[in-house]
Amino acid sequence: MLPDLHVHTARCGHAGGSIGDYLEQARRLGLSYLGFADHLPLYWLPLEERHRELAMSEEELPGYVEEVLRLKRTNPDLAIGLGIEADYVPGFEERLRTLLSQHPFDYVLGSVHYIDGWGFDNPACLDGYARWEIDELYGRYFALVQQAIRSGLFDILAHPDLIKKFGYRPRADMRGLYEEVARAMAEASVCVEVNTAGLRVPAKEIYPSLEFLKACRRYGVLAAVGSDAHQPHLVAWEWRLAREWLLAAGYHQVVVFEARKPKVIKIL
Ligand code: ZN
Ligand code: FE
Ligand code: FE
Ligand code: ZN
Repeated sequence: MLPDLHVHTARCGHAGGSIGDYLEQARRLGLSYLGFADHLPLYWLPLEERHRELAMSEEELPGYVEEVLRLKRTNPDLAIGLGIEADYVPGFEERLRTLLSQHPFDYVLGSVHYIDGWGFDNPACLDGYARWEIDELYGRYFALVQQAIRSGLFDILAHPDLIKKFGYRPRADMRGLYEEVARAMAEASVCVEVNTAGLRVPAKEIYPSLEFLKACRRYGVLAAVGSDAHQPHLVAWEWRLAREWLLAAGYHQVVVFEARKPKVIKIL
């Protein structure tokens, strides 16, 4: 079964299940690799604006790291990854670099969840879409994504076309832009994440679109897979579709990470 590199835990304030619950589910399903990628603390915000329902606090981060490391030690028969999902916010690269350097992460997922402070993937912030012309919004989002890719901070680009989450689709042909992003990923050795959470939201499509994933394949970008599970029963969710999506884009292998190094696994 394909590895899952993107699960959250109750620590983030908006997910259910302990680290052990996710592991138990991974065992039940027969996963070969389970990677935890809970949300990194909201490092770019002043303390009073770090909403506890969006991410763990900075004081809780060492506990998360310790718990996953302990799980690795006590489950030597199963490959477990210590990952983290980190927001990309321009101007705060060095703060993020410092924070990431303090822990022995196996990999870092890079996410763009904010455009100039607007949490565009938050259902509570939907009114923001009315302020944008949709093609311009896509342009701005993917400009940030390219900055994230070039920052050198991330191993994997999480949910690459998250901007489609609520079903706002571009009018213009995005293929040229996808090519550009894919090329940037190849140059920076950033992997593309095939994320099944897109199927659970109005977009009703895996992140990224097949066109986008094919562009990644053409440029030799490596692929990783994540369910973005925020509940234990969503581990490896819709894995059959993830596999089909990868194969349709021409991928016959995916990667897992250890100590920030990718390891290739054949898709069976
Ligand atoms: Zn989350
Ligand atoms: Fe995310
Ligand atoms: Fe996530
Ligand atoms: Zn995510």
